[in-house]
Amino acid sequence: MSPSRVAAFVAALPKVELHLHLIGSASLDTALALARRHPDGGVPTEREALRQYYAFTDFPHFLRVYERVNRLVTTAADVVTLLDGLAAELAARTVRYAEVQVTPVRNRMAGIGYAALAGALTEGRALARERHGVELGWVFDADALLGPDGAEETVDFAVGHRPEGTVGIGLGGPETGIHRADFAPAFRRARAAGLHSLPHAGETVGPDEVWAAVNELCAERVGHGIGAARDPRLLEHLAEHRIPLEVSPTSNLRTGAVRAIEEHPLPVLHAAGVPVTLATDDPGMFHTDLNAEYQLCHEVFGMTVPELAEIARTGARAAFCEPDLRDRILAEIDQVEGAAATNAG
Ligand SMILES: [Zn+2]
Repeated sequence: MSPSRVAAFVAALPKVELHLHLIGSASLDTALALARRHPDGGVPTEREALRQYYAFTDFPHFLRVYERVNRLVTTAADVVTLLDGLAAELAARTVRYAEVQVTPVRNRMAGIGYAALAGALTEGRALARERHGVELGWVFDADALLGPDGAEETVDFAVGHRPEGTVGIGLGGPETGIHRADFAPAFRRARAAGLHSLPHAGETVGPDEVWAAVNELCAERVGHGIGAARDPRLLEHLAEHRIPLEVSPTSNLRTGAVRAIEEHPLPVLHAAGVPVTLATDDPGMFHTDLNAEYQLCHEVFGMTVPELAEIARTGARAAFCEPDLRDRILAEIDQVEGAAATNAG
């Protein structure tokens, strides 16, 4: 199939996005609007300067910029602005459903009370559905830097406020020197309250932390998890227990988690039979979108149209959306793949 046909297929393919941070989703335009709304926030208010500000040198640099942009989000209206921009971007890439990682403790530290945050998420979710035709779910993400206490506070918010669309509890932030196992009590409490366990693990470190996410946090999906590629026994475990990895190739390249895109372990994970979904992580900051990630899998890893369709199906199956929506997305994927095969023939 010609490159333009593959691009057209990817653009038409209905998708879900299961690893996407609210703050990091901010497109340049949205970040610019927020920076100008809060000019004393230390984030450039000119487009070119902001673009340069978003050019990361490594993972710690990325975390510093992310934190600074987070501090611009100080009101419920800012959260709604982010969600409106995010939903528009998703709709433009034929994303039907997304699970958005929200870090309530960081929002609280930036000045948004929990009731206001819950209200803004509910408002933004309705707006995403009505204005953009995109369904959103929430993963309340604990920042590892804030330790187990921060995770407990995250669970308090998720369980206490439980805005409509609440799906699960996450764990993000730095991994070096921080052990997933320390967060087990908070995850246990979240799971007892019916929340799904969706931590990051093995983004910048090796398989041990992915094992810990699976064994100690009972992860139902793992954010990134690329460190698993170094451990055949772990790959077997993930494949056997159908634990999907939310893989974000461009993010891994931009943060320096992989040195070169050709060295990305996605083909290893895929070949081992591990369920792999594609995600953007922080599309605004990494200058990517979900179509670009699918396209990259074709161009760099040689994935075929049927393989790309299968990745989209894996995403739909791994999503914690309403069963009706999942069935609709899967039927639509079949339809678009069928049309592509007919055109190619
Ligand atoms: Zn992430």
